[in-house]
Amino acid sequence: MTRETVLRYIDQHAAEMIDFLKKYVSIPSVNTGIEGEGKEKEVQEWLAETLRGYGLAVDTWAEDAKKVRPNVVATLKGKGGGQDLILNGHSDVVAVNEPEKWTADPWNPVIRDGKLFGRGASDMKGGNAAAIWAVKALKDCGADLKGDVFLQLVVGEESNEGKTIGTTAAIKRGYKAPFAIVVEPTNLEIHLASVSLFFFEIIVPGKAVHVCCRNQVVFPQPYGLACGAQVGVDAVKKALPFIELFYKLEAEWNQRWRDPILGAGGHPTFDKQGVGVFTVNPAIIEGGTYLASISGQVKITYSVWHPNSVPAETIWEEIRQAVSALASTDDWLKEHPPVINVPILQEWKGYAVSEDLPGVVSLKRAIKNTLRQEAVISGFKAVCDSTYLNNNGIPAVTFGPGNLDLGVHGDDEYIPISQLIDAAKVYASFILDWCG
Ligand SMILES: [Zn+2]
Repeated sequence: MTRETVLRYIDQHAAEMIDFLKKYVSIPSVNTGIEGEGKEKEVQEWLAETLRGYGLAVDTWAEDAKKVRPNVVATLKGKGGGQDLILNGHSDVVAVNEPEKWTADPWNPVIRDGKLFGRGASDMKGGNAAAIWAVKALKDCGADLKGDVFLQLVVGEESNEGKTIGTTAAIKRGYKAPFAIVVEPTNLEIHLASVSLFFFEIIVPGKAVHVCCRNQVVFPQPYGLACGAQVGVDAVKKALPFIELFYKLEAEWNQRWRDPILGAGGHPTFDKQGVGVFTVNPAIIEGGTYLASISGQVKITYSVWHPNSVPAETIWEEIRQAVSALASTDDWLKEHPPVINVPILQEWKGYAVSEDLPGVVSLKRAIKNTLRQEAVISGFKAVCDSTYLNNNGIPAVTFGPGNLDLGVHGDDEYIPISQLIDAAKVYASFILDWCG
């Protein structure tokens, strides 16, 4: 059996792979950790049964308290004496909040102009389908492998539960290898690093009072009438300089920490992704509680995406200092300082691996041999489970079909069919080389 046999198999079975992906996308496996309900269980049970039907050894188990969010690991067994490999992807997807903005039914995939539309098409059932079909092609073609291939098809990624019930649990269960590829959408670029993510909130205090007193709060009063902070303080007005402050810091940090950013250029050709620049996003602004009151408090929740070469602690300290310096210039805020809570909610650190890893060298070769082009080396501008593989001692990169700007976490998500097929070919080619 040659590599060409397997690549031909993938071309000849493209229609079946697309049908597989359509069925996969049609099961609304919305992340239970975010939504409180979803069909992670249903999608995983369907996967387990389908992969058993393909003749793979399938293990399925759940780590969540209610045991309703199972992981699936399918193994293509080698004959021993070779290198094992992990292909990792998540089956959970984010919710569809504005279905009316879609031009296609998010849960009933259609193909238009060579693109398959549906929630999870790019993120990341498409990558999983390509990995599964690479393994199926090798099995059906009778590939003679030495190492094992573990398809880790996990839950809980979208809610950062890869560190608990998802990917980390699969590793702890014994599915380990000297190299892993996370098949998240990278536009078929090899991503050696990702950003890091944290959240923080700033609570700016005011002093609520009946809105009829606003003239006293805002304007000087004659005849010794009470005014200003004696009466009330508009928290929105007090919060504005801090909103400005973080826009300025966002720009400044991008200048200061420009060098370590990977991607936004890539090599040998321009990448389409790259680890994003430093971003400080005011995600949620909450202020005021009643129509007839001056707002007594404003709370702003920020998300910060930063290169993982910059320690989060350094940024937290700078946030605290900048807020305190600005507060000291205001009479009210000097006495009633804003509260900074950092970090809150969750932290998701990035990963970074060397381009010299044997797995990366081998993956570059698979891309060149299969797609007849040089691999593009770049960075992942979001976070993903590659972090948790690397944290558990398994060198991992991210490489997959689709892209983060194709409606991922938004409307009209899609994956180009040609990338799906190309990815399956690259994975198959890589497995032959790595596990052969
Ligand atoms: Zn994803």
